[in-house]
Amino acid sequence: MSAALVVGAGISGIACAIAMAEAGVIPLVVDRGRAVGGRMASRTLRDTGTAFDGRVVDIGASYFTVSTPEFRAVVDDWIARDLARPWTNSFHVASSDGVEAVRSGPVRYAANGGLRSLIADSASKLPNVWSSIDVTSVSADDTSLIVDGERRSAVALCMPNAQAHRLIDTSLLSPSLEASLTGITYEPVIAVTAVFDQQCWEDFDGMFVNDDPVITWIANDGSRRGDDAPVLVAHVNPVLAARHLDEPASVLPLVLATMSRVLSLTSQPTWVDAHRWTYAKPMTAHREPFHLDEHRLLGLAGDAWADGPKVETAWLSGHLLGEELARRLLDSE
Ligand SMILES: Cc1cc2nc3c(=O)[nH]c(=O)nc-3n(C[C@H](O)[C@H](O)[C@H](O)COP(=O)(O)OP(=O)(O)OC[C@H]3O[C@@H](n4cnc5c(N)ncnc54)[C@H](O)[C@@H]3O)c2cc1C
Repeated sequence: MSAALVVGAGISGIACAIAMAEAGVIPLVVDRGRAVGGRMASRTLRDTGTAFDGRVVDIGASYFTVSTPEFRAVVDDWIARDLARPWTNSFHVASSDGVEAVRSGPVRYAANGGLRSLIADSASKLPNVWSSIDVTSVSADDTSLIVDGERRSAVALCMPNAQAHRLIDTSLLSPSLEASLTGITYEPVIAVTAVFDQQCWEDFDGMFVNDDPVITWIANDGSRRGDDAPVLVAHVNPVLAARHLDEPASVLPLVLATMSRVLSLTSQPTWVDAHRWTYAKPMTAHREPFHLDEHRLLGLAGDAWADGPKVETAWLSGHLLGEELARRLLDSE
């Protein structure tokens, strides 16, 4: 039978595939995006009219935290190879009117080459990772799973549950699976990148903007990446983002006015862009680390599992699903 298949090359899919490969089962990994990374997304600046073209900006996840020994080992390896680094444990807290306090918390980690580079590095350990492949259907007959007409020994769907739900044939949806898939609501986010000619704000790493109807968070991408470039990334309040998903750029005037007020900016950015994340973050997550169908080797992993929703839990979910799928595949041989 053809190879086991992992759909989704975000952190959960790549963790799943690596766990399978380490156990001796090499899967094919496919993703519909042009590059791996999923929501750990970084874009390269181009045609900004500033000196920062060619620089990478994180436009998805802002950072990650580490609490489990399993993920700690992965992160320590990235740090040892200068791919990731501890960024900060202090964020500013602001209201709509300006900065109020600085609060300490867990260490947040960032990536020197942008968060996507961590997934690209991990994916480079796998022989078969194909991008620009949009999977449209997962069904089954009496003997095997079938993905877009191809028979598969095992299938892991590593993506937001709402996206997985659309792929799975109704004949495979037990009432409990249907409830698991539809029971999680995702918040949208619009990420606004603003590139300035030079820094025109007081130093900060990241800033939570509480109770503001326009933005919830501003990351200082220059501090995050460690090059001090004057680049900010703001996240739009999910309620406002939901109203602008069809035309994300329409939030720009409001976001720039709010950033300007909160940070007391003394000049305007030279270049701005808005990126839409329809399924940015699940509002709740299942406690189970992953879902595995009772009858077939069809699994689900991602940040809606393992007590998500964050980078670390998505990694753990994919990793544990990969170990289990490999164990069952090897047992069935
Ligand atoms: C704006 C934003 C800010 C965030 N901030 C943080 C943060 O600060 N800290 C933190 O820990 N987490 C944060 N998160 C959450 C974090 O990014 C996610 O929890 C994590 O990246 C999820 O990884 P994943 O592999 O489960 O899913 P994804 O990264 O979404 O990967 C799923 C992959 O599946 C692919 N795919 C989907 N459907 C198909 C299909 N039909 N065919 C083929 N491929 C398909 C997609 O292209 C995608 O690459 C943030 C997320 C967003 C969007």
